[in-house]
Amino acid sequence: MLRVDRSGHATVLQVQVAERDTSLQGSHLLVAVGRAPTTDTLNLAAAGVATDARGFIQVNDRLETNIPGIWALGDINGGPQYTHVSLDDYRIVKVKSGVKLMTVSVKKSLLLF
Ligand SMILES: Cc1cc2nc3c(=O)[nH]c(=O)nc-3n(C[C@H](O)[C@H](O)[C@H](O)COP(=O)(O)OP(=O)(O)OC[C@H]3O[C@@H](n4cnc5c(N)ncnc54)[C@H](O)[C@@H]3O)c2cc1C
Repeated sequence: MLRVDRSGHATVLQVQVAERDTSLQGSHLLVAVGRAPTTDTLNLAAAGVATDARGFIQVNDRLETNIPGIWALGDINGGPQYTHVSLDDYRIVKVKSGVKLMTVSVKKSLLLF
């Protein structure tokens, strides 16, 4: 991207594609910069829970971490980041863990016991 201008109600981008300058016009500009886990704030090392090089908690196909009795569900395990995937992760743990799960809603968070 070379330049962004407003022209009336339009947003005009000057971009370079394959060494050719061109302009794109639209109503809005959405910048998607990606998402990153914040596991570095959780002190997972205290529990010995392993993360991958990007900071996602490593799990097997049962969503078990390397520490027995600890699972990682949803975005934090590095899978596809969709609401329905998080819900399905809950179902996987519920069916495969063999333990009785109690869900406690803390605002939006789900804690599993
Ligand atoms: C802009 C945007 C648009 C999206 N659009 C779609 C869409 O259209 N369709 C779709 O399927 N998915 C969409 N997603 C993805 C979807 O929101 C996530 O995949 C889903 O919310 C993941 O659920 P989760 O429970 O894993 O994490 P989250 O919903 O992020 O929940 C994690 C919760 O943990 C809390 N938390 C974090 N750290 C701590 C801590 N230390 N202690 C206690 N609580 C903590 C957070 O506050 C948060 O409430 C979108 C995501 C974004 C960002």
